[in-house]
Amino acid sequence: MGFKARDRARRKESGGDKTSTTAKEGIEPCGVNGCEGWSDATMGGRSISVNDAEDMWGKGFTARKNRVRVCKSCYRSWKKSNKQDDHHY
Ligand SMILES: [Zn+2]
Repeated sequence: MGFKARDRARRKESGGDKTSTTAKEGIEPCGVNGCEGWSDATMGGRSISVNDAEDMWGKGFTARKNRVRVCKSCYRSWKKSNKQDDHHY
């Protein structure tokens, strides 16, 4: 069980300087199959757990180390569908 590793502490995004003049190209593609969004944190992307992703997209996503990186709009729709169950554990 290596779930304790904190992905958050890992900042692999390089070039975080003032090079944001480029277009809307991200680095991390959205993990949801068929979605062409970007899951970069700078573009509003988030990462959710595989379990959460399965509830929403079944097997239609790509996971990385038990997390699924999703773009802003995917995260939104996921959050929407989870709203009724809005507990903070
Ligand atoms: Zn997406």
